Amino acid sequence: MKQNFESRLQNDKDSLEQDFINYLRYHLGRELTSDVDYKMRALILVIRARLVDNWRQTWASYHKAQPKRGYYLSMEFLIGRTLGNNLLNLGLEEDVAEALQELGQDLEAIEAVESDAGLGNGGLGRLAACFIDSCATLQLPVMGYGLRYEYGMFRQLIQNGFQVEEPDHWLAFGSYPWELKRAEYTRTVRFGGYCRDYVNPETGVHIVHWEDAEEVLAVPFDVPIPGYKNQTVNTLRLWHAKAQESFKLNAFNAGSYFEAVAAKNEAENITMVLYPNDSSESGKELRLRQQYFLVSASLQDVLANWERFNEGYETFAENNVFQLNDTHPSLAVAELMRLLIDEKRLPWDEAWKIVTATMAYTNHTLLPEALETWPGALMWRLLPRPMQIIEEINRRFLAKVAMKWPGDVERQQRLSIIGGHGEVRMAHLAIVGSFSVNGVAALHSELLKDGLFNDFYQLWPEKFNNKTNGVTPRRWMAAANPGLRALLDEVLGEQWVTDLSRLSQLEGYLDDPVFRQTWRDIKLENKQRLAALIERETGVRVSSNALFDVQVKRIHEYKRQLLNALHVIHLYARIKRGDTANWVDRVVVFGGKAAPGYHMAKKIIKLINNIARVVNGDPEVGNRLKVVFIPNYSVSAMEVIAPGTDLSEQVSTAGKEASGTGNMKFMMNGAVTIGTLDGANVEIREEVGEENFFLFGLHADEVQQLVPHYNPQDYIDRDSDLQAVMHLLESGHFNQHEYGLFDDLIAGVKAYADPWVTLADFRSYVDVQEQAAQAFADVEGWTTLSILNTARSGKFSTDRTMQDYNNDIWQLQAVEVS
Ligand SMILES: *Cc1c(COP(=O)(O)O)cnc(C)c1O
Repeated sequence: MKQNFESRLQNDKDSLEQDFINYLRYHLGRELTSDVDYKMRALILVIRARLVDNWRQTWASYHKAQPKRGYYLSMEFLIGRTLGNNLLNLGLEEDVAEALQELGQDLEAIEAVESDAGLGNGGLGRLAACFIDSCATLQLPVMGYGLRYEYGMFRQLIQNGFQVEEPDHWLAFGSYPWELKRAEYTRTVRFGGYCRDYVNPETGVHIVHWEDAEEVLAVPFDVPIPGYKNQTVNTLRLWHAKAQESFKLNAFNAGSYFEAVAAKNEAENITMVLYPNDSSESGKELRLRQQYFLVSASLQDVLANWERFNEGYETFAENNVFQLNDTHPSLAVAELMRLLIDEKRLPWDEAWKIVTATMAYTNHTLLPEALETWPGALMWRLLPRPMQIIEEINRRFLAKVAMKWPGDVERQQRLSIIGGHGEVRMAHLAIVGSFSVNGVAALHSELLKDGLFNDFYQLWPEKFNNKTNGVTPRRWMAAANPGLRALLDEVLGEQWVTDLSRLSQLEGYLDDPVFRQTWRDIKLENKQRLAALIERETGVRVSSNALFDVQVKRIHEYKRQLLNALHVIHLYARIKRGDTANWVDRVVVFGGKAAPGYHMAKKIIKLINNIARVVNGDPEVGNRLKVVFIPNYSVSAMEVIAPGTDLSEQVSTAGKEASGTGNMKFMMNGAVTIGTLDGANVEIREEVGEENFFLFGLHADEVQQLVPHYNPQDYIDRDSDLQAVMHLLESGHFNQHEYGLFDDLIAGVKAYADPWVTLADFRSYVDVQEQAAQAFADVEGWTTLSILNTARSGKFSTDRTMQDYNNDIWQLQAVEVS
């Protein structure tokens, strides 16, 4: 394979085939008869090599254009599998499938053994993955920065109905086949030690040294992120923590071999495991270490790159922008100050101007339990210099507040970055240090301004804006739903993949009976795929003619899987009392992980599984109702689930779900939503039209008004259906040999203070569920609903979301790579 430096790998079928054999044999030392895992790795290397060609061209184009750059800082990137997606983006699916076929190999079987890169918990991490896909497709010079966790999101098993967590050793082979290690860009991150002040006797300049710190190496691993059928390949840079070699030597000299090895472990633990909490903080020291490690390594990396092509920092702010994915990376505000002041020797005011012109913060939640704070004592011990800087930022900030509202001490206390117990409020740090603060759906952004961040909004109204979330149509439509893709390619032309507004043209086919039949055929095939997954994972056989009613997402009280479970019990009670006139067969699908320490969420999983056992085992129920809990909900599972869904459950307590993105994946794939007026549901309903959305429940303001004097018993007393449901639950019908198991769940929904007001929404939920069932029984009517949902989902492409970020916040120029 003699090649000069300008040549590129060929993409014809024969070259792909030969390369595949070469990688398998000479790189991995395996043959076609070897385990399919090796063939998967060989194929990824074939594709990665092609990406490297485009990657180099992208670097060259960026080098030449020197465009303004964007950096997406995120503790999570929930990527899932990549092979199918990259083949799609490179336009190589057919050639690769044929090349493999000639070798007697099946592409789908090979794709199926790639493990999910599960470096995230749920929506927030998946959003980051969709964002970088769209940025590459839009040719925006945006780089992702994250952590290369050795263990990603845990694998969920269900044993006797309970969630059991297993470690996800996704790097079992020692490496991720898509990544390229770039040891030459290793950075050093410091923890602990103390600060010492120096005054230069000649200049009088005061400087601070951070001394005696423990040093940890940050080694970057780059993952290529190709755009859709363009030449752009952007970079996701993931940091791996490694102990200093010299550190080890010092300890050896002191004769403490054991302590040296243990300390090495402590350093390398930083990127060992993803914290499995979604929408709640962990408060653990190791988590703070992870956050600072990400932020410090990434900012040092950006500054080092800047200095390769630029002198000084006068134009840095015009040429760089950082988007903070929630408060997790908000130490970036303090760390960029530290780097500019201590290492680049800029005066405070100049450094602060740069920070507040380059940092932008995205809020993801209104839940108080998710708002991060770090104890002052921990901050001083672990990050003495950044903490000093945070104090100074706060001192100057509060002086401004005092000028604007003289004498209003309470307001100063409310706004302060440092709280009454010395804790650092990360959201306050992010807001003070950023020029932009955005929520992730219209309703959420309004609630931020009116509630949580109202004091900040009064101070800086111009900082606040909304950027409604989206999902990438490449993964969530073109790759996940090949039947739909073929139909859309045929009637809209392939351009829909990068211009999702074109879906609206589907409305022109509403009266076309052939199109409508094809639409139903595609849905049926997708439901059969989902039914096969259900049977494989749970052993339950379901009929593909039934209404597939699906709620998959993290298990959380605010998401109200419990409300859905109560509805299932209601349907079961109806069957048992013979109330089955005009019955519509239904398969209720649940899936989702509970944080391992979240007791109530784990109980909800157990309840669902116990209900499933009773319902599915009752011959009187039969096909009228099936209930399944699909274990280990993940990106690759969702790729089968969303296309096979009829009814999308988005039933959170209004005002609690910031946006949701699962709701968008379902809509694009032709599911109809039953939901509350919460998060992006509001905009989904606006787009699809109120007659095409099953709305129920209290509105956000009504929930707020109700909670202080909420009495669940009133709702039980007024509703015989709810009484029947509560009776089945309280009599122990679903926990016959597990006495008292669900007492805490029952007490929760009956508590005066139940913040999720589950029983208050029961009646309207049950009524609207019945409307949905009757709508499903009308085959033609439902076909129209389904087509309209896809046709009107164009807004929810992350291509639109990224264009909004770019127009209003980043202001980057697209760079053509050629
Ligand atoms: C889309 C997605 C989510 C987010 O779902 P929501 O319903 O918006 O909470 C979580 N996990 C996975 C694996 C996803 O694909």
